[in-house]
Amino acid sequence: MSASVVETLRPFGEVREHEPMSRHTTLGVGGPARVYFRPHDRVMLIRAVRALDAGLPCLPLGRGSNLLVLDEGFDGIVIDLAPLNHVSCKGRLVMAEAGARMSRVASACVQAGLSGLEFLATVPGDIGGGVAMNAGAFGQQMSDCLREVCCLLRDGSETWLPVDALGMGYRRCHLPEGAIVLEARFELEPAQPALVRDRIRRMRARRSETQPLDQPNCGSVFTNPEGMHAARLIEEAGLKGKAIGKAHISEKHANFIVTEPGAKASDVLALIRLARQTVRERFGIDLVPEVRIVGGGS
Ligand SMILES: Cc1cc2nc3c(=O)[nH]c(=O)nc-3n(C[C@H](O)[C@H](O)[C@H](O)COP(=O)(O)OP(=O)(O)OC[C@H]3O[C@@H](n4cnc5c(N)ncnc54)[C@H](O)[C@@H]3O)c2cc1C
Repeated sequence: MSASVVETLRPFGEVREHEPMSRHTTLGVGGPARVYFRPHDRVMLIRAVRALDAGLPCLPLGRGSNLLVLDEGFDGIVIDLAPLNHVSCKGRLVMAEAGARMSRVASACVQAGLSGLEFLATVPGDIGGGVAMNAGAFGQQMSDCLREVCCLLRDGSETWLPVDALGMGYRRCHLPEGAIVLEARFELEPAQPALVRDRIRRMRARRSETQPLDQPNCGSVFTNPEGMHAARLIEEAGLKGKAIGKAHISEKHANFIVTEPGAKASDVLALIRLARQTVRERFGIDLVPEVRIVGGGS
């Protein structure tokens, strides 16, 4: 498929073949994308999707902070949304395009004196990935303040969906099949900028105390089973510090897997399998990966 897809996409942005996904994920591992596409802007993205065969596998990419791409790579088109990064505030409303860094949106909220999305300052992803994952922390989550989302569907049409249509829950969002989030609109509560800034400062401090932020990782590997902490289960199963290849379960936070230079996705995957199997055997609990595992026929 590559040659014709590359020619189809070239007028609309930057196109590369066999692009290593290790360059585009915070874990720093992952095999090649058959085609990597970075549109010039939103209009070009829409034109490109209209020009593509709707049956081709596509993977929208934010910051890659919740992605494990297997070593075999992704046999399709990775669409990097970074160029769609406009952010604006009007009254209590915040409008952010998919590729806007969450931390930038948090800064805009501080300046506008708006509260409700402070946690965004502590999550390294983009708004589109945050919506797709219903990202959250410190008792806040995207869906609390989200009002509507503009999606690009595989037939090239754009549609605004209200939050109620997305079935959002804990790290869950049911986007229409193959939809790409283009933009999200949030409604927040007015607050003193100094207060919002102070909440962010405290959240950041808590993060660096408890998480291995100095090593490549993808945040929490597993969702927390109801009423429990995945980290505690993994720790009690005796796996803290366990290494496979160049990846290991963090000593600082057992629900984090960290990598060293030379790590492979298969090292990370083996640790995920080991943690699931050990926790299942010890406690009868099935840990569910929060990290999205893609590629290699996964
Ligand atoms: C140090 C660290 C701390 C973290 N802390 C948290 C935390 O506290 N809370 C939390 O919830 N997460 C946390 N994460 C995980 C991650 O940051 C979030 O899941 C984030 O929302 C992912 O955003 P992203 O842009 O990186 O998405 P990606 O990793 O690029 O993509 C994640 C998924 O979303 C899809 N996607 C991405 N963009 C779009 C789009 N525009 N339209 C449709 N689908 C899309 C992708 O195809 C993929 O399936 C952390 C990660 C790290 C590395």
